[in-house]
Amino acid sequence: MVVKASEKEEEYFARMEFERRKKAMEEEHRKVTEENMRKLKELHYMRCPKCGMELIEVAYKGIKTDECSECKGIWLDAGELEAVSKLEKTGLDKFFSIFKA
Ligand SMILES: [Zn+2]
Repeated sequence: MVVKASEKEEEYFARMEFERRKKAMEEEHRKVTEENMRKLKELHYMRCPKCGMELIEVAYKGIKTDECSECKGIWLDAGELEAVSKLEKTGLDKFFSIFKA
């Protein structure tokens, strides 16, 4: 596969932007107390990060995916996007068909 210079540039800037935001967030997190962390988790656990409604957990081939019961957004935990990307084409089609109901 030939990677165009502009693609490499886009990848570079996306990574730089991510790292910049991550650093800023880590700084913010240092100001949050353990008590507040616990309260936030209690309030947001298994809730959609976009609309706040309940998430429905679906397990397929060891991949646990959470779908929002309201806006249909799909959320993945750390490492799960990599696991999804490793599914064969037919497995990937089956995976997506779960959410078409
Ligand atoms: Zn939602």
